[in-house]
Amino acid sequence: MLMNEQDISEIKQLLSNEKNIVIVPHKNPDGDAIGSTLGLLHYLLKTNHKATIIAPNDYPEFLKWLPLEQTILKHDTETNRCNGLIENADIIFTLDFNAFHRTGNMGSVLEKSSAIKIMIDHHQQPDDYAKYMYSDVTMSSTCQMVYHFLDKINALNYLNEDIATCLYVGIMTDTGSFRYRSTTSTTHRIIADLIDKGADNTKIHNNIYDTNSYNRMQLLGVALNNLKVIPESRTAYTFLSQAELQKLDYKKGDTEGFVNYALSLNNIVLAAIFIEDKQNNIIKISLRSKGDFSVNELSRAHFDGGGHTNAAGGKSNTSLESTIEKFISILPLQNSALNDA
Ligand code: 5GP
Ligand code: MN
Repeated sequence: MLMNEQDISEIKQLLSNEKNIVIVPHKNPDGDAIGSTLGLLHYLLKTNHKATIIAPNDYPEFLKWLPLEQTILKHDTETNRCNGLIENADIIFTLDFNAFHRTGNMGSVLEKSSAIKIMIDHHQQPDDYAKYMYSDVTMSSTCQMVYHFLDKINALNYLNEDIATCLYVGIMTDTGSFRYRSTTSTTHRIIADLIDKGADNTKIHNNIYDTNSYNRMQLLGVALNNLKVIPESRTAYTFLSQAELQKLDYKKGDTEGFVNYALSLNNIVLAAIFIEDKQNNIIKISLRSKGDFSVNELSRAHFDGGGHTNAAGGKSNTSLESTIEKFISILPLQNSALNDA
């Protein structure tokens, strides 16, 4: 769903005078969710709006250096204040998700709000809640879409070092450092412009990827040790139990990227990691694929989740062992698709 000329001129009109604006990323926000909401926040503040980012919950430490990151409110710990802002909002931007349930408990509050909703997102199968929908599954990242959005509303002249830094982060993290299929020559042209506007690419890479704790490296060792391969299904998976996580003092974000080691095995096109979350009584599942095999469809059909063709998430309410058993049991049905991928 691309915005047409009419939508764009209405949005420009809407933003032409001061508004109360709330910007929302999905629950457990990642680099693209935080980068895109912050990039948009910087623009809205520079154009004299009252704007606030409300995240459903906290996010990893490796994102806690981005400009204005410290202003992000968390709905789960500041619920009343956040609900007040949502009720007062004229406009709500929802970024990097396309269904209210992706914001957890915030979903019902967002649904009730009478604010004008603007969606900017690149996931599959969007819900129909937004007056203005900029939804494009071909996009590398929501950060790339925020760049295009600023371009559409003739606001690229506001692109400064802060905005460039935030948008660079999300494009980099959602493309696996510019290597996934969604990375196009346009993505690279935008990245070039962001560097010209002051994004320090080496520093950004170091801040995101080279701040590992010793415990996180040990946890990666455990995940690699648990790695299993099912050659006939070109599949590899690993898992981490709550006990393994606790022993190494697991922090939010520590398991980010672990599933990619499974996918990096020779001749593997489907990879999964199963992470036991006793606190929420679920198994969190991350799925990755190569080529045409859709983990979005696999996750929607079997694991109450979704995402993109090559990267999706999901969950299960049964034990770690039985979740893995279920995964193994559905693979034979996928063998021909996996062998064609
Ligand atoms: P991750 O495995 O990194 O948590 O998520 C991979 C992709 O799938 C991300 O784009 C994320 O937004 C999406 N995703 C993760 N979990 C869920 C989920 O439970 N439901 C849906 N619809 N998408 C998810
Ligand atoms: Mn994204």
